[in-house]
Amino acid sequence: MALIEYIRHFVRKYYPQDHLYLAGGMLGVVVLLLFLPDNDEKGATVTSQTQIAIPVQLTESRADTPPDYEIDDFVVPSQPQSAPIADTIVPAAQWQNVEVKSGDNLSAIFSKVGLSDQDLFRVLNSSEEASVLNRLYPGYQLDFMIPEQGELEQLRVFKSPLEGYLFTRSDTGYAVETILKEAELRQSFKVGTIADSLFMAGQAENIPAVHIMEMANIFGGVIDFILDPRAGDQFSILYEEQYLDGEFIGTGEILATQYTNQGTTYTAVRYTDEEGEVGFYNPEGESMRKAFLRNPLDVFRISSNFNPNRRHPILNTIRAHKGTDYAAPTGTPVRATSDGRVTWAARNGSFGNLVVLKHTGGFETKYAHLSRYAVRKGDRVRQGEVIGYVGATGGATGPHLHYEFLMSGVHQNPRTVHDRLPKAESIESAEMDRFRSQTAGLLQQFSNLNNSLFLTINQPSAD
Ligand SMILES: [Zn+2]
Repeated sequence: MALIEYIRHFVRKYYPQDHLYLAGGMLGVVVLLLFLPDNDEKGATVTSQTQIAIPVQLTESRADTPPDYEIDDFVVPSQPQSAPIADTIVPAAQWQNVEVKSGDNLSAIFSKVGLSDQDLFRVLNSSEEASVLNRLYPGYQLDFMIPEQGELEQLRVFKSPLEGYLFTRSDTGYAVETILKEAELRQSFKVGTIADSLFMAGQAENIPAVHIMEMANIFGGVIDFILDPRAGDQFSILYEEQYLDGEFIGTGEILATQYTNQGTTYTAVRYTDEEGEVGFYNPEGESMRKAFLRNPLDVFRISSNFNPNRRHPILNTIRAHKGTDYAAPTGTPVRATSDGRVTWAARNGSFGNLVVLKHTGGFETKYAHLSRYAVRKGDRVRQGEVIGYVGATGGATGPHLHYEFLMSGVHQNPRTVHDRLPKAESIESAEMDRFRSQTAGLLQQFSNLNNSLFLTINQPSAD
C-alpha cells in the first residue's frame, strides 16, 4: 500500500489535475471487461479438508455483477440479475461485523458486541491460532455470531478478504478452522494512445499505476520511454483483477501487453518457465529482458513539463558530443543500464560528477553531471539500480544526464547500439513446445481483442 500512496503522491506532484483532464479529453477510451467463464477452481470458496466454505451472505448472490467504474466509457453489459430469493438470506442480525480501526482494543470490541472479558479469554485460550486476536491490525475484520445474548457461537477473524480463521463454540472451548478464500479473477483489457507520455495515457485509461510502471519495465529493453514515444503511439494491456463476492479487492498480474512505437509493434506475453520463474517474452520466445536498458532514467520520475515529443535541447558543450543528453530535473534518480562494476565515481573535468560502469563483454557506460552519487568505486550494481542523481556539475549549462556507451573502448551511439548487442536470452528449444502451449491461447485471445478494438473504434457510435 505504501507503494500506491507513493505513486499517488508522485502523480499529484508531477501531473496536475488539469493536465490529466486535458489528456483524458484528447484520448479515445475503450474499456472491455471480460468475465471469465465460471470455473470451479476460481470460485470464491475452495474445499479441502483443512479449508471450509463460508456461509452464504447476501452479497454472494451478486457475484456476477460487473464492478462500478467511475469512467462513463464503454463497458460490456452483463446479463440482468434476478432478485435474490428471500428464503436463502441468512438473517443479518446474527452476524455482527466489526472492522478494526487504529486505537481499537480487543476488550472494547468484545464489549461493544455485548460480550464479556470472560468470553474473550475463552476464545483466546482455545487454540494457538487464537493469538491472532492479540495481533490485530487496522483493517482486520471480526464477525461475531451471537444467537443469544452473551453467547458467542462463532467468531470469524479476517486478516485480509482472502484469509482468516473461524472459531466455533465446542464443549471444551472453541474449535478453530482456517478460512482461505480464492479471489475470482476477471480480465481487463485496455488500450491507449500516447498524447504526452505513457504514464498520462495509462492514467487516462484507468490502468493501475503499478501496471503502467511494469509496462515500462517490460519494454525497457526495446523502447527508450523518454526519447522514443511519439504522439499517436498505441498500446494495449490485458491484466487480471481480483474480485471477491462481486467486489473488487485488488489488481492482479499483467498477462500480455503491446506497444506500437513509431510503427513498430512489440508484444510481450507472460510465461512461467519450467523452474517456476515468471518473465515476459515476445511471441517467438525471446526474453523481453535485455542486457541493457534503453535509457538510464526512471521515466516516471521526469517532470511533466519535459516533453518527450520535442527534440531535447542541444546543450552548449565544447566537447565533441559522444553521448545522449536527457534533460531532467536535478535529483532525478539515474539507473545502471546493465549489471556491472563501478570503476569511477568522482569528479572528472567537464563531466562533473561522473560514474563509470564496466560490464561483461567489454562494454562500459558513463553517467555525467550528477548532483550526487549513490555508489562508490568498486561497488557491484544490478541493472536498474540507482547509481546517482541528475545534476548540472561540470560543463553542464542546465540539469541533465549525459550518458555514454562504449564498446571495447570505442564510443557508440547509445540510441542505435542496441541492434548490435548480443541477442537476448531465448527459451531453450527443448522448452519451446511448453512455451507455445502455455502462451498460444493467451496470445490468440490478446490478438482478437486488439483486432476487435480497431473495429470498435472505426464504427460510428450506436447512439
Ligand atoms: Zn551530453
